Amino acid sequence: MKQLLKGGRVVDPSQGLDGISDVLIEDGRIVRIDRDIAEGSASIVHVPAGCVVCPGFIDMHVHLREPGQEHKETIATGLEAALAGGFTAVACMPNTDPINDTASVTEFILKKASAVGGTRVYPIGAVSYGSKGERLVEFGELRDAGCVAFSDDGRPVATALLMRRALEYAGMFDMPIIDHCEDPTLKGDGVAHEGYESAALGLRGIPGAAEEVMVERDVTLAGLTRGRVHIAHLSAAGSLRAVRSGKDRGIQVTCEVTPHHFVLTDEALRGYDTNVKMNPPLRAAADVAAMLEGLADGTVDAIATDHAPHHADEKAVEFDRAPFGITGLETAVSMALDRLVHRGVVTIARLVELLSVNPARILSVPGGTLAVGTVADVTIVAPDLPVTVRVAQQRSRSRNTPFDGWELRGGVAATLVGGRARYVNDALEGAHAFDPLR
Ligand SMILES: [Zn+2]
Repeated sequence: MKQLLKGGRVVDPSQGLDGISDVLIEDGRIVRIDRDIAEGSASIVHVPAGCVVCPGFIDMHVHLREPGQEHKETIATGLEAALAGGFTAVACMPNTDPINDTASVTEFILKKASAVGGTRVYPIGAVSYGSKGERLVEFGELRDAGCVAFSDDGRPVATALLMRRALEYAGMFDMPIIDHCEDPTLKGDGVAHEGYESAALGLRGIPGAAEEVMVERDVTLAGLTRGRVHIAHLSAAGSLRAVRSGKDRGIQVTCEVTPHHFVLTDEALRGYDTNVKMNPPLRAAADVAAMLEGLADGTVDAIATDHAPHHADEKAVEFDRAPFGITGLETAVSMALDRLVHRGVVTIARLVELLSVNPARILSVPGGTLAVGTVADVTIVAPDLPVTVRVAQQRSRSRNTPFDGWELRGGVAATLVGGRARYVNDALEGAHAFDPLR
């Protein structure tokens, strides 16, 4: 089986590629990238005009909800959403029911995922049993079962001592600890960013400092242990300063930012829509400006969605009582193209670093490159495609997004996993060109 992608703009920062090239795929692997490759026996795919061929996008922070909360999402519906969103791989957080703190849960997730096929799944194991912050799980056992990182996401790693031990233990396997940074005493029972908007709306506040002090702790401990820490869903300007300072000192700290934290401010709270309630909360304009600066200057390593599906009934309550979180898999790439690339914040090459190269490197998983010999996980984007977000047409089982009806420039053209087109956007003119890959 040979397929030749002809005439696309190939952007692969892992090899310094950015230009019109052909890509030859054989038996699901990249075998050659060059100008004007002769057809030979390959079936030809004329990449539609303007499309960009990238290493497959990897979302390193999703909640697939299975096992235990299948009314919100299942592995099958979550992976359908991932494909439509342009993601060839996702890493799933351990706060399912039961929590992924033993090999049997990891194996369950991987078995379900392989039965579904399509987007690859990399489970993240818990740091502590039940994510209760007491006893470290067996990192070696979880790694052998297929976990790629550890996190108590939903909560921070509870104490400095536990974080120290976790960094030392994970460091033996060169694996990262991913931390949901928030000081629970400063967060209290807050529901929104502490500032002018929360005061005006009468919502209990969560200060940016609740995140920042925990990021400072983690950076300091990563320095002490020489371990690797990755800050999940970073949202506050002060947290970004802490990461930047850690990097300047040679500490192994990386971080991710979600699309909602670089697109929306706490002004979106007006109207009390529970679909803008998330944790960390939408922050002030100065914080959003800092996120954009970090995305542009390299301080931010990855864009991750924190895809957090909730059933409509759970969100249809008063703001105070609604659960935190929104979906993100099916809107992230359009948000990033519209708000980052078209507004001149980042180049497409930098976007590919944020969505593919860096997540692969941080998690030490395959992908993040179109290098010859690697598996042909490829995301093809159409940067100028007009996209209207239609939540009713999304694949996720849940619909808790504040972006319904938004009109954006740029979207996913096709998602190839192992050389097969597992998703093709039929709204794109010329989409039938991908037929030989289906
Ligand atoms: Zn979290």
